Amino acid sequence: MITKSQVLKWLEATAAMIEENRQYLTELDSPIGDADHGINMDRGFKKVMSKLPGVEDKDIGTILKTSGMALVTSVGGAGGPLYGTFLMDAGKAVTGKEELSNDDLVALLDAGLKGVIRIGKTNLEDKTMVDALHPALEALKKAVADGKDTGEALHLMTDAAHEGMKDTIPMLARKGRASYLGERSIGHQDPGATSSYLLLKTLTETIEADPSA
Ligand code: ADP
Ligand code: MG
Repeated sequence: MITKSQVLKWLEATAAMIEENRQYLTELDSPIGDADHGINMDRGFKKVMSKLPGVEDKDIGTILKTSGMALVTSVGGAGGPLYGTFLMDAGKAVTGKEELSNDDLVALLDAGLKGVIRIGKTNLEDKTMVDALHPALEALKKAVADGKDTGEALHLMTDAAHEGMKDTIPMLARKGRASYLGERSIGHQDPGATSSYLLLKTLTETIEADPSA
C-alpha cells in the first residue's frame, strides 16, 4: 500500500534527487547526446514542485497528471514529453485513488511505460529509458503475483531497473539523439535509463523511510 502522502513525498524527494544528479545526468548525455538531460529534468521537476501546492488535496491520479503536464509544458527535448506522458498516463490509471494497492502500482507503471512506448515509438533494446522501465515493470509484476509486500516488491523492481540501466551500456542506440552516433553510441550508459532507475530508487527509498505514512 502506498498513501497519497507518500506519493507527494516521492515527488519532492525526486526533485531533490534530480537536482543532486543534475550534473551526473548531463555528463551521461554528453558523449551520446547534447549534454542537457540533467538540466532538462531539473527544470521539469522544479516546475512540478511549483504545481504541487495547488493539487496536494486532490487524488493521486490528479497529482500525477498535473505533474506530467508540468513536465510536458516546461521541458524541451525528448525527456520532458516522455516523462510527462509517463506521469500523465500513470495518473490516468489511478484516477480518483487516495491510496495505491500493489495491483494499482503495477497498473500505474504499466500505463506509464505504455505511454512512453507510444510517444517514443520505442522498442526494447533501443537504448532508452524503456530498457530500465520494462524490466522494472516485469519484476514488480512478478513480485506482486508472488505475494511480496510493497517494500520488497519495490526493491525487486529497483534492482531490475538498475540491471536494465547497466544493460544499456553495450547497446547500439536506435532512438533519440544517441542514435545519430550509430556504432559510437556503444559503450555508454543511457542517460534516460539512468534517470528512470533513479526515479524508481527514490520511490523505494521514500516508502522505506516512511512505511506507515
Ligand atoms: P534530448 O535527447 O531531446 O536532449 P534528454 O536529453 O532530456 O532529451 O533525454 C534523452 C533521453 O531520452 C535518452 O537518454 C533516452 O533514454 C530518452 N529517449 C530519447 N528518445 C526516446 C524515444 N524515442 N523513446 C524513449 N526514450 C527516448
Ligand atoms: Mg539531451
